Amino acid sequence: MSDNCIFCKIIKGEMPSYKIYEDEHTLAFLDISKDVDGHTLVIPKTHAVNVLDITEENYLNVVKTVKKVAEHYVNNCGYEGVNILNASDASAGQSVFHLHFHLFPRCSGDNANLWPKNAVATKSLEEMQQVLAFR
Ligand code: AMP
Ligand code: ZN
Repeated sequence: MSDNCIFCKIIKGEMPSYKIYEDEHTLAFLDISKDVDGHTLVIPKTHAVNVLDITEENYLNVVKTVKKVAEHYVNNCGYEGVNILNASDASAGQSVFHLHFHLFPRCSGDNANLWPKNAVATKSLEEMQQVLAFR
């Protein structure tokens, strides 16, 4: 737990949330932004900053819950699909520094634009493979 972390406060019940699912290791609740109906956050109960910080075991618990909630939305709640997003580090747009996956339930024609086309690439795929491939 981290004293100044709003998501730790939600876990401890010190701040309200619209809970969707909870188990021993994880919690899913609605995002307050009201940008997309059903926008859900899935978090580990053990504080970790992001995917670069969390232990593999705790990470696996979170992604299992992401899958469980996604399947529930599609199998039981009338949705057809989901988008799953995560920002790890401020450079990637992270604003709350307790790991969370954003889960957006989707239906054909819902007009949510969660995968904007924003081509900023300047390098060839060969160059990027040289930079990024495991050696
Ligand atoms: P990110 O920018 O990926 O770190 O996302 C942080 C998300 O947390 C945003 O979508 C916020 O709307 C959401 N958020 C912040 N405070 C709360 C809160 N108290 N309850 C639910 N969602 C929150
Ligand atoms: Zn926290």
